[in-house]
Amino acid sequence: MLQYPHLEKALKHHFGYDQFRPGQRQIIEDALENRDLMVVMPTGGGKSLCFQLPALLKPGLTVVVSPLIALMQDQVEALRNNNISATFLNSSLNSYKVRSREEAIMNGKIKLLYVAPERLISDRFLPLLDVVKEKVGISTFAIDEAHCVSEWGHDFRPEYRQLRLLRKRYPDVPTVALTATATDRVRADIIEQLGLKKPSIHIASFNRQNLYYEVRSKSNRAYAELLEIVRENEGSGIIYCLTRKKVDEITLKLQNDKVSALPYHAGLSDKERSENQTRFIRDDVRVMVATIAFGMGINKPDVRFVVHSDLPRNLESYYQESGRAGRDDEPSKCTLFFNYGDIKTIEWSINQKPDPQEQLIAKQQLRQVIDYAEGTDCRRTIQLSYFGERFPGNCGNCDNCRYPKPVQDWTIEAMKFLSCVARCKERFGMLHIIDVLRGGKNQKIIVNKHDQLSTYGIGKDKTVDEWRMLGRSLLHQGILEQTPDGYSVLKLNALSWEVMRKQRPVLIAVPVMQKITLDEGNIKAAEVEILMQRLRSLRKQLADEQSVPPYVIFHDSTLKLMAQVQPRTLYEFGELSGVGSHKLAQYGDKFLAEIQAYRQEQGIQTSTVNQVNYAPVNNFPSDTELTTLQLYQQGFSIEEISQKRNIRPTTIIRHLADLIEKNQPIDLSRLVTLEHQQKIWQVLEVLGDISLTPIRDYLGESYSFDEIRLVRGKWRREKIK
Ligand code: ADP
Ligand code: ZN
Repeated sequence: MLQYPHLEKALKHHFGYDQFRPGQRQIIEDALENRDLMVVMPTGGGKSLCFQLPALLKPGLTVVVSPLIALMQDQVEALRNNNISATFLNSSLNSYKVRSREEAIMNGKIKLLYVAPERLISDRFLPLLDVVKEKVGISTFAIDEAHCVSEWGHDFRPEYRQLRLLRKRYPDVPTVALTATATDRVRADIIEQLGLKKPSIHIASFNRQNLYYEVRSKSNRAYAELLEIVRENEGSGIIYCLTRKKVDEITLKLQNDKVSALPYHAGLSDKERSENQTRFIRDDVRVMVATIAFGMGINKPDVRFVVHSDLPRNLESYYQESGRAGRDDEPSKCTLFFNYGDIKTIEWSINQKPDPQEQLIAKQQLRQVIDYAEGTDCRRTIQLSYFGERFPGNCGNCDNCRYPKPVQDWTIEAMKFLSCVARCKERFGMLHIIDVLRGGKNQKIIVNKHDQLSTYGIGKDKTVDEWRMLGRSLLHQGILEQTPDGYSVLKLNALSWEVMRKQRPVLIAVPVMQKITLDEGNIKAAEVEILMQRLRSLRKQLADEQSVPPYVIFHDSTLKLMAQVQPRTLYEFGELSGVGSHKLAQYGDKFLAEIQAYRQEQGIQTSTVNQVNYAPVNNFPSDTELTTLQLYQQGFSIEEISQKRNIRPTTIIRHLADLIEKNQPIDLSRLVTLEHQQKIWQVLEVLGDISLTPIRDYLGESYSFDEIRLVRGKWRREKIK
């Protein structure tokens, strides 16, 4: 038996979603039990909902601590678009605004308050909070990005440390801590620093099923491939580069290729950066080319692809950065370009670190990234094992699972390569060896007389990239070594000699080219895409009118549903995931009109297309209802009407409720006290249009089914208008 059977209704009503994401329901139930909570979920897991929905269901104010102004504004905008009374207080507001918002809070008009930690614990604010607690109650403190309390996390903020004061001052207000950082150490630190009491701990899987992971080797075609990715994928994308210089280069190239792209890096002024970011979030520009300075606090849910054009520093960073794709759970793509040169660059910078311990850790982390990039196992298995999570593989959504790399026997090639290293007296790096194998004619070869070696030109049948792939693989398999002095001179070892003596085979995983064929599924997808384009521009237009990011209106996932389902009535429209009652009323007509226009242009014929109707509600009272109405208007009581007509009183009530719903002149306050009306109304707002019993359960014995039915009639009328 579910303890809170109506949470799904409330979810649909307020947020428009049909189902909870994994973990959410459990967490929300715990929150409703006023437990302290520690929520660890990957980016995009849906953490916010875990405190937002309870905030609406519990009396009093929920205070949300959030470190970044941009983050607060986004969340509050999204909430307001669902008609939820939320607000924020931060340094971007003038004192007049602050005061009016504080007043609204004190009057209990606000359910969710977002506030920065330093303001929350200030001497000015705490007394105000005391009054709020007294007058309207504080339902919860929700600490977002809770890893900021920990020095072990990647984003320590000293002001978070002082939050512990809240626990002391308001010991009975439950605290919910949320983070996407997974390590044990940070987790323990959060519990300790915030003084959580017997917290219920929820750790979600870090598997992001909707993300497609792939690694491509970075050849001289890398830019062409990048451009292909950008063109193939509709929607927004982020391209991460190691250096500012490269960010600028790629931005320029993309712009030349007519891709709408902007740069983001620490070399730009604050103003430029925040402008570029806003343009990205508002869908004015499609692609952000950035250093890792970009991303923290960006919760744009519809990023469709994240490309790393250079190797990330470690797997955790890669996971977090690539994880900025597909927060809305829609299929999205994460591509990592990788070549041997990157490793050298990073190794060089590691060697600059003064602390040998730090060097060691950094090298180990680099090793893990290389293993990921070179790995032939399921990418998820490799990533998740990094977080201590076991994943069986065969995910079907990574390059290694979809296009398993055939392992080929390259023993002969390896023998050629290694003996060339030997003949060059183990004094050269990989590129020179490859040059010799391929019969190059450059100065270095001539001077060293390497064109006279027996291995000169015996490798013309393979490309430079292929030889490099082999060389790399030999290095990673430990069959070959290189000097760590920055020159990377190739050196042979015992294993190399085994290969050359034919005592050891060499197997390497060879990438295969992927072919994309256009089948029926693709054609249907293309049609959906055309309609989605139109819906996107409508969304953009509506968003601009309100100066909010487009995703605040509807997520991509909801647009996609619209394009697939092509609803014809408001009722059908309201059924889509992502359409809550407020958005239905606000935007339903506009999107339906757009879909209808598309269908007409496409010649999709249906007789009912023109009727944009609400649910199967018949708006005219029936004869028997009209008879009841007449008697009621003549001043007879329900009991009297019942007797006169020889119909049970409940049926009369049913008539009256339907008459109210059908907008007939019936004064509800003659039937239900104002106080009861208000209370029932509130519950309907939360639970939505469900059957009477759960509403009654919620309200208790002092409310009758009749009263609820009558108020529901009026409520339905208001909602349907
Ligand atoms: P996190 O903070 O964990 O990174 P968010 O709370 O921003 O994630 O949620 C990511 C996205 O998923 C948001 O756009 C949110 O509206 C959406 N979302 C959350 N819960 C659900 C759900 N149950 N069904 C569909 N979408 C959801
Ligand atoms: Zn896989």
